[in-house]
Amino acid sequence: SDYILEVNDLKKHFPVKAGILQRNVGSVKAVDGLSFKVKKGETIGIVGESGCGKSTAGRTLIRLYEPTAGDIFFKGRNISKMSESELRRTVRKDIQMVFQDPYASLNPRKTLKSILLEPMKTHNMYKGKEREDKLDELLDRVGFNPLFINRYPHEFSGGQRQRIGIARALTLNPDLIIADEAVSALDVSIQAQIINLMKDLQEEMGLTYVFISHDLSVVRHISDRVGVMYLGKIMEFAPKKDIYEEPLHPYTQALLSAVPTPRKKGTAPRERIILKGDLPSPANPPAGCVFHTRCPAATAMCSEKVPEFREVKKDHFVACHLY
Ligand code: SF4
Ligand code: MG
Repeated sequence: SDYILEVNDLKKHFPVKAGILQRNVGSVKAVDGLSFKVKKGETIGIVGESGCGKSTAGRTLIRLYEPTAGDIFFKGRNISKMSESELRRTVRKDIQMVFQDPYASLNPRKTLKSILLEPMKTHNMYKGKEREDKLDELLDRVGFNPLFINRYPHEFSGGQRQRIGIARALTLNPDLIIADEAVSALDVSIQAQIINLMKDLQEEMGLTYVFISHDLSVVRHISDRVGVMYLGKIMEFAPKKDIYEEPLHPYTQALLSAVPTPRKKGTAPRERIILKGDLPSPANPPAGCVFHTRCPAATAMCSEKVPEFREVKKDHFVACHLY
């Protein structure tokens, strides 16, 4: 198969407990039925507002959270029900995560050298000289002076710390990297450097990325295809050009109307679409189309019938009754 990752109807619901007996009184449907496929070597962007479930989706994809339902095929194997010991032998090496704030996950008392050695030791990879060579290679890949190896996290800038997060993710030669808001805490000029670094590494090492962000322009720079999430579901999934130049879903259209992005030549400037109301709670999502309470195009059917997530033109998937 051309696909390194296939996700079928993935769900992650968190129980809501209440009272002194902590009884289950409901559930937060953080991820509620995601389906998409990722080709080897491509970058999938997952975009949506804060609270749409995109971070939970990233963590569930790699089994940091137990899926409530659905299947995840990684390199042809169903990892959704693998035991932790089997995950350690495969998935925990081959899929790595890069987070928004690497500083929070870097031990302040450890040097860069011991930070990078740690995954090698945990997974018993590389011996003696191989480890030294691997360290040299990692520093070179992220553009660090070899002398940096004995420095501590606080001696690095925010952009450099994100390079450390990336170097650490590369230690075990992964196939797939899930980046969750990986550049969101950085200044715009530093964001561009990190994105370019990630693109170069992708080419050199044949990496596949799932790039999660609330930032539409960052996602446009790095992605080949983009999924737009709202209340735990993917509303639209298509090649980048389709998403940014000819969005079909009313939610995607509203999101894009709020940011200046290049349009297809000869089309009128986009008008700002202001969505009414607030984001509903994922503990109590609207019936029918989850977007119907805010959708400017909603009809009576939208509050009753869940729209199917369908391929309406080649490689372009939409969940909306208009199509
Ligand atoms: Fe809007 Fe209806 Fe389409 Fe949902 S299904 S996005 S409510 S038009
Ligand atoms: Mg998040």
